Amino acid sequence: MVRIAPRYGLFIDGEFKPAADGRVFTTVNPASEESLSEVALAGPADVDRAVSSARTAFERVWSRMPGSERAKYIYRIARLLQERAREFAVLESLDNGKPIRESRDVDIPLAAAHFFYHAGWADKLSYAGFGAAPRPLGVAGQVIPWNFPLLMAAWKLAPALAAGNTCVLKPAETTPLSALLLAEVCQQADLPPGVVNIVTGAGETGAAIVAHPSVAKVAFTGSTEVGKQIREAVAGTGKKLTLELGGKAANIVFDDAAADQAVEGIVNGIFFNQGHVCCAGSRLLVQESVAGQVVERLKRRMATLRLGDPLDKNTDVGAINSRQQLDRIRELSASGEAEGAGRWSPPCDLPERGFWFAPTVFTGVSQSHRIARDEIFGPVLSVLTFRTPEEAVTKANNTPYGLSAGVWTEKGSRILWMAQRLRAGVVWANTYNRFDPASPFGGYRESGFGREGGRHGLEAYLHV
Ligand code: NAD
Repeated sequence: MVRIAPRYGLFIDGEFKPAADGRVFTTVNPASEESLSEVALAGPADVDRAVSSARTAFERVWSRMPGSERAKYIYRIARLLQERAREFAVLESLDNGKPIRESRDVDIPLAAAHFFYHAGWADKLSYAGFGAAPRPLGVAGQVIPWNFPLLMAAWKLAPALAAGNTCVLKPAETTPLSALLLAEVCQQADLPPGVVNIVTGAGETGAAIVAHPSVAKVAFTGSTEVGKQIREAVAGTGKKLTLELGGKAANIVFDDAAADQAVEGIVNGIFFNQGHVCCAGSRLLVQESVAGQVVERLKRRMATLRLGDPLDKNTDVGAINSRQQLDRIRELSASGEAEGAGRWSPPCDLPERGFWFAPTVFTGVSQSHRIARDEIFGPVLSVLTFRTPEEAVTKANNTPYGLSAGVWTEKGSRILWMAQRLRAGVVWANTYNRFDPASPFGGYRESGFGREGGRHGLEAYLHV
């Protein structure tokens, strides 16, 4: 289904090359702990080569090309992603641990949709509301996390390319393979050399991209902690910056909500992608009068979730992406118990090898508990209750983050009332975790700033 090479080089200037100093790292399958491949580890010299190549491609080719020509390349990438969708889905599930049902039905189609959508913008930038002839910025340095490896690459590359910028992208160290397959797709699409460069490595490689003087724009998705470091590194340099960081979203269920749909929304909100989702509905706020009933139904539904082999089409919950992430989830869950919340998981046999964590719900959680404040980034739900809409808003906003929220109620006026008061970049009503390339996504406060997707997302890649 997919051929994984024993070794991968860095994708610079349209070719795969080893790192200048020959260093490599291993990427493993988190469901089995088996090694998948060795990948080049880019040092500062490699980052410099990649940025120079992107700068040359920007000046000589990409920024001069008419938008309608750029669009052809971006459409080609989108179509190739669709053609090779099965290959991408299997590779993503192997490297990341996510269920194939999700990589097949969500990650890959959405990644293709981002390229299609932005291809449409490439020759219409004059109508985007940023002036008659908005100009691109130059080289975009882009650093992404491991939870949606290909999709995050698409979120970064597609708008940058449509706007006429060239890119140096770094995937996360635990999930480099789908970005490298995307590099192959760029070759297949005959994208001019240097327009997209993919450099692999860990935090130091990312820091070298951020610090490079020829990078005009930094786009980062990842943890709030690293986002703060990047903000400091970029301060005063004149580089444009967007940060998409963590979250601790409230999924709010009122007593008039359609109970079965709400329970599906709660499950999707926290167990989709093992909860490795920045906008996960990790705090369930449920109206007190229906709390017992909702939690009861939720537990019944959780007992039907199948955990196991990510490549099995019936799997609902796959592997945790890394041992480090598993340790974090374990530590925070232990703190929930120690602080007095009630812990429950359905009976669930965990495979012997690999990184696994059973879907877990905590009841009796108070706002001061760590599991109500810290981002766990795993399949762990904290349940809190409220009595009035005002109390729901106060509790939902009681977080340093502000990325997303969900509201479940049959009353339309209440949805609008809540949406006006919730301090979150995205508010879903009677649904959760819905994404569309036309819809801007991003946060407030410690969830970062800037928007990705839609007309707003283009702004970050243009002189406006
Ligand atoms: P992370 O911040 O540790 O790593 C993210 C990326 O940054 C990786 O590629 C990593 O190698 C790189 N990096 C690490 N240190 C760096 C440095 N000093 N300079 C430059 N790059 C550096 O985060 P993670 O653990 O990989 O991802 C999980 C986090 O990402 C969660 O907090 C989650 O909420 C957040 N996230 C946010 C969004 C969003 O859109 N808001 C989307 C997905 C994930």
